[in-house]
Amino acid sequence: MTTMPVLDTTEFDFSQEHALGADKVARRVAVVRNENAQAVLHVGMKSPVPWLDLYPSEFALAPSEAQTVVVELRPERAGHTALAPARVSLFGQYLAVQAADAAALPADVEMGIAVIPPLSNCPHCAADLPEGATECRRCGERIRLCPVCGTPNTWLARACRLNPAHILRTQADWRMAPGGDAGHALASERPLGAHLARRWSFPTSAPTRAADTLEWSAPLAAFGMVVASAIDSAAGRATIYAFALATGAALWDFDLPDGRGLYPDRGAMALSEDGMLYAATLGGSVLAMDVIRGTRRWEAKVGGTVYGGVTVADDYLLVPAGTDLVVLDRRDGRPMRTLPVGGQLDTASAAWGGGVFVGSDDHHLRAFDLATGAEVWATETDGPFDAAPLVRDGVVYAATMTGTVWALESATGAVRWRTSVSSRALSVSPALSFDGLLYVAGDDGFLHIVAASTGNLIRSRRVSASPLRCAPAVGGHTVFAGADDGNLYSLDAEYNVLRAYETTPGTRLGTAGLALYGDFLICAATNGVLYVLQATA
Ligand SMILES: [Zn+2]
Ligand SMILES: [Zn+2]
Repeated sequence: MTTMPVLDTTEFDFSQEHALGADKVARRVAVVRNENAQAVLHVGMKSPVPWLDLYPSEFALAPSEAQTVVVELRPERAGHTALAPARVSLFGQYLAVQAADAAALPADVEMGIAVIPPLSNCPHCAADLPEGATECRRCGERIRLCPVCGTPNTWLARACRLNPAHILRTQADWRMAPGGDAGHALASERPLGAHLARRWSFPTSAPTRAADTLEWSAPLAAFGMVVASAIDSAAGRATIYAFALATGAALWDFDLPDGRGLYPDRGAMALSEDGMLYAATLGGSVLAMDVIRGTRRWEAKVGGTVYGGVTVADDYLLVPAGTDLVVLDRRDGRPMRTLPVGGQLDTASAAWGGGVFVGSDDHHLRAFDLATGAEVWATETDGPFDAAPLVRDGVVYAATMTGTVWALESATGAVRWRTSVSSRALSVSPALSFDGLLYVAGDDGFLHIVAASTGNLIRSRRVSASPLRCAPAVGGHTVFAGADDGNLYSLDAEYNVLRAYETTPGTRLGTAGLALYGDFLICAATNGVLYVLQATA
């Protein structure tokens, strides 16, 4: 007696089942047949993954009987496991109806159904991905699994490619410093604990020899990664480093075209939504890179020294160079126009609603129309600017080196209010919380809290005896500020000051801004170490 095939299908391909809704399932049917006329067939089959249902999963078939088995795909159940091809195994055992037939029973059956889930391939090169893959072995693409259904996506995607209702990335996980970009100001609604614990650092500990110390500029965090540039003076080299945020694993590094690198105090790179990274060196070399893959896209050169950070605005890249704001086409680096700002530019510009806002050493804030390059207004203030302006909902906020915070109408430059908060300089951009509070860090070691709507000084709280020259970051009602004594401080909703994290004594945190990503806070210190800290209660 021969064993007949018991299963009519050995492969189910769901790869074309796109856009499965939240409540929808994809179904396939297989038929299990007992083709033996003398024996009963007991069948058991088991789903190897949570996103596949089989029913019935166990049954008995009388001689010559058939049973329909339904295979249901439910990507929503995948959670954090990848949707990778799975194999359902089927096991069947024959039992004799008549004792006399026992000797002639067919052998046990073992078969499998291969299940190919939708979109289990690389979103970049379409190569098959194994379960839990974090990168593609063929093209090197970094893979982000959808937190709802497990579908592999690119890190740039905002929504899952299987079901756009699955959100992969929100504005809230993309905070950059210092200032410049209103959409990515250092304030998040998400409440953060007031303590900080180190997750990893690069290098692991501070070098003992000064010559080995890297000089960092402001770090960025987005797309699950931390990107920061550092000058290695001894080697005459400046390098951009990219790390996986959660683990600190090195993803790529790339030497800047100019060994002088980015100005440590106020230099900053910028990111765009489509995954381009921009950097401008002190010497005026501008570099655009694919941030996910670490590959160069284009290089350009601008005249004049670049002290401030670059800013992305729509299709433009804004580079502060000397006394000009140079506007490049951010797709290819082509020069578009040069905006004369009247004085030395020490900091990044801010863009909003088709306008760009610049503060310079000649005590003026100016607005330009990005499309035409025309100057829209110029308003005289009481001091020069090291802090980048911040713009939200039609109001430009700026802090001067003479201790005053200004709020101007973005359309006209009219002064809404001005508030003198300190006799000392305000060297860094304020953070503007979602509930309308400006947190202003001062060289006087105080955090000044100003109501953005009225300019009323709500509270000044002494944080450190040393200057605060690190743009503060806000999560909910917790504020973090770095000081020139090497410590990161937090201030909670009751204005309690806590020393949240200590680096090496004698180190300054003023050298670069903070970056915020979820509850991760990233900072660089003058001891040469880039710290990735996590806020805890
Ligand atoms: Zn690939
Ligand atoms: Zn999904």
